[in-house]
Amino acid sequence: MLNLQNIYKNYSQGKLEVSVLKDVSLQVQEGEYVAIMGPSGSGKTTLMNIIGCLDKPTSGTYTLAEKDILRQNDREMARTRNQLIGFVFQNFNLLPRQTALENVELPLVYAGVSKRERRRIAREALVRVGLEERINFQPTQLSGGQQQRVAIARAIANHPKVLLADEPTGALDTKSGEQVMELFHKLNEEGVTIVMITHESAIADHARRILSIRDGEIVQERAGGGAA
Ligand code: ADP
Repeated sequence: MLNLQNIYKNYSQGKLEVSVLKDVSLQVQEGEYVAIMGPSGSGKTTLMNIIGCLDKPTSGTYTLAEKDILRQNDREMARTRNQLIGFVFQNFNLLPRQTALENVELPLVYAGVSKRERRRIAREALVRVGLEERINFQPTQLSGGQQQRVAIARAIANHPKVLLADEPTGALDTKSGEQVMELFHKLNEEGVTIVMITHESAIADHARRILSIRDGEIVQERAGGGAA
């Protein structure tokens, strides 16, 4: 599904050239659930932006669903991103004055899906995340955990190849975080491929496989609790 090989990413900080990712290789098969764990500053977001087709590495290769991403121009990459990747962020990124249903519908508007079809798809995604009772609520009328479930519904509505989650429980209390992890487990059982970034080992442990990143290098790989 996803194959990164020998990825390097350098940034220039003033006159200095700093290497933020150093020879990172990572393969994720269809249906896997992988966590990338590491402390702040270890390169997780940089790696996530590359996996999510938001940024290109300095060198290396990346194929996603058989597409050679690094040969694509910005426009092609944007199309690949919209078709193949669903994003979930720490802070939900919902529009505050739109209902849950409208928030989930929004990316489908950009994808040119008809109004009727959008409604159907968005409703179905909200049912999948257990929010059928809340489709007409606005974010302020929902708990943090429910808001994150709306964001997850939005991310999976279009049936992306990969669900990419950056600290999905970072803004939640422990109980809501666990509920989001239960939802990820269910979605993964249903076949959704998940790549999750976190600095919390208790959260990473929900994945089936955990990669640890330190100073831009993958230093360890092990099975997570989700593999049991
Ligand atoms: P994490 O997500 O694990 O906290 P990041 O990928 O955000 O780590 O950052 C890794 C390192 O790369 C940090 O030292 C950060 O300062 C540096 N970095 C990130 N983005 C840039 C940038 N656009 N320009 C320069 N340095 C950057």
